[in-house]
Amino acid sequence: MKKDLKVEIIAVGTELLLGDIVNTNAQFLAKELANLGISVYHQTVVGDNEERILNAFELAFKNCDIIITSGGLGPTKDDITKEMAAKYFNKELVIHKESLKAIEDFFKANGKEGELSEGNRKQACFPEDAIVLKNNYGTAPGAIIEGGEHKAIIVLPGPPRELIPMFNEEVVPYLKKFTDGILVSKVLRIFGIGESYMAEKIGDIIDGQSNPTIAPYAKEVDVTLRITAKASTKEEGNILIEPIEKKVRKRLGEDIYGEGEITLEEVVAQKLIDKKLTIATAESCTGGLLAGRLINYPGISEVFLEGAITYSNEAKMKRLGVKKETLEAYGAVSEETAKEMAEGIAKAAGTDIGLSVTGIAGPGGGSEEKPVGLVYVGLYIKGEVKARKFNFQGDRQKVRLRTVMNSLDWLRREL
Ligand code: ATP
Repeated sequence: MKKDLKVEIIAVGTELLLGDIVNTNAQFLAKELANLGISVYHQTVVGDNEERILNAFELAFKNCDIIITSGGLGPTKDDITKEMAAKYFNKELVIHKESLKAIEDFFKANGKEGELSEGNRKQACFPEDAIVLKNNYGTAPGAIIEGGEHKAIIVLPGPPRELIPMFNEEVVPYLKKFTDGILVSKVLRIFGIGESYMAEKIGDIIDGQSNPTIAPYAKEVDVTLRITAKASTKEEGNILIEPIEKKVRKRLGEDIYGEGEITLEEVVAQKLIDKKLTIATAESCTGGLLAGRLINYPGISEVFLEGAITYSNEAKMKRLGVKKETLEAYGAVSEETAKEMAEGIAKAAGTDIGLSVTGIAGPGGGSEEKPVGLVYVGLYIKGEVKARKFNFQGDRQKVRLRTVMNSLDWLRREL
């Protein structure tokens, strides 16, 4: 088989087509294949139907060397993936004694000896020259069925708890024989600039690169930048990534808040703990979401002392000491109120930092002067109080989420 291996994933199951289950197997396989440096250009979902499965194989092999299927290895009549793979390569199925014994043992171990059916015997049938893949977590063994013209179909069971270990333990070593490299990647997490502006800022770095490659992705609240190197070892990959990462970091500076799977609240919480700075929050339109985010972080109790949801004007006055005159002169959604809220909660809680939020989340309550999405965030820090104005787009939940994330990001930068 050639070196630049192309693999296609075919998930078999009518349940998938009906939307009854989510195709997490394809997601898992795609991710793992990418990590191995193997190209996947197409994925297919097909029902448990002979003709359509054979068609899917035919079509896939126009482009790829190896097909990996998931599902349809069960004992019932409509489980036909392996049968179709054998048929596609014109191979007979014969009983594989070791697999039959393993299935019998599986039933014995589960106290179900009497329940071994004809269907289970069918699960132990494979083409004579197939590489049978043991299933330590269920009855259906998988198989690598090689055909002419350097092609192969790898059939794996549907349940993820069976497919994942079988793939990792038996399929990966098989595929590695055909690849000459692995993909090593690093993800940088960015907040505060949009995907397109970021792409512009580092456009020349992206364009000038082929190995590693740099790919920006816009997520719901932030943007990520994945730097991926093709190399023969992880160490070699990291050496390729390092100079590019440095260049990108120099350009984007503080817009990068972390790397890998880290979240904004984790970064903020860690900074507060490291600097031993206590915090309290006062929220209006976010109704506790901001405090909730911070409290996601285990260990935050060292620094997070209090969170108030002060929704009404009365609450803002009574709990935070916001002045009646301020509310009357500027309104609840204003820079002045946000500042008094932040200072008020910090004083009441006795913390180093007070972070406040007041805004119009919508859909109602907006006006020409103060439209939906207008938010003020107040920050009392190091004895100083300031406020920032934001105009967010989106529905009520988006405005609330963006408020929380932007408040956290502002605090991160101030820290
Ligand atoms: P079994 O021996 O359990 O019948 P099988 O190989 O025949 O396994 P299916 O019958 O197709 O697999 O699916 C069994 C279960 O596995 C499904 O009900 C579902 O829970 C899960 N499953 C199947 N395909 C997928 C998939 N693509 N992604 C995630 N889960 C899946």
